[in-house]
Amino acid sequence: MATRTSRDNQFEPKEERPGRSSFASNTPHSVTASRLNEHSAESKFLVHRCNVPRLSYYVLAMLKFPLLGIPVGVHVTFLFVALLGATAYSGIDIAIWTAAAFVSILLHEMGHALTARRFGAQGISVTLYGLGGLTSYSHRATLSHGRSFLISAAGSAAGIVAGGALLLVVRSGTFAGVSHEIGVFLDAFIFTALVWGVLNWVPIVPLDGGHMVQHLASMVNEEKAPLISQVITWITVAIVVPVAVLNGFDFAAIIVVIFAFSGLRDYRARSKRREPRPVPPSVQEDPTEFPI
Ligand SMILES: [Zn+2]
Repeated sequence: MATRTSRDNQFEPKEERPGRSSFASNTPHSVTASRLNEHSAESKFLVHRCNVPRLSYYVLAMLKFPLLGIPVGVHVTFLFVALLGATAYSGIDIAIWTAAAFVSILLHEMGHALTARRFGAQGISVTLYGLGGLTSYSHRATLSHGRSFLISAAGSAAGIVAGGALLLVVRSGTFAGVSHEIGVFLDAFIFTALVWGVLNWVPIVPLDGGHMVQHLASMVNEEKAPLISQVITWITVAIVVPVAVLNGFDFAAIIVVIFAFSGLRDYRARSKRREPRPVPPSVQEDPTEFPI
């Protein structure tokens, strides 16, 4: 699955804005900052960034379409979701599961994307790949921590609201007697929207929840916010991993640890960085390109 693109790369902003700390320099006021932190961050339980070379990315991008004015790209690696479905389903049900996961993850990303657009973001795009997705955007002005928090929260919120509403409808008996295929789709959508949505809110950087914590901490102490979110991340890991293992969710425990170390690596790299390098003109001129 995905490895990190260069959060600590050549795309970092040249100068920080007055009143913004190093953390702020990695958030919204540059094209890439918003891309790589704001939302690559955001989409991450089953949502991770990948480091596919640019040419390969476009070759492997199997589907592109606009949705509510936002360009959506689907990478061929999104089909890995089918492998996940194969652990619980068989035959045509795997395809139905994949379709439900597609709708669920797209809904999640659109939650981020539409909220970002509401706050004036530009060059918004959504990419589905690996086992998840990525919403990227640029922003001319620095977003407040409150707005950044809302953007991070909006993905799972969209899924939880939709999945919860559908669950209530299903339990009311409205769909009683539907075909097996529709039943599988409904079950899969409710599961992915609710469970993945809640898991994304777990306060572990780089999941959405970890970034939500970081935005909240920034309201109190912007400079210490990354450290605070790391501390909360590892406290959470210390609680979640044993609970997951004791309940037989070894794979989930492994994923959590991988994500946590991924976030720690970014934190350490950012802490070491002294002079951010300039944003290359090509990135500034093409805010709609997919972040790869
Ligand atoms: Zn998200």
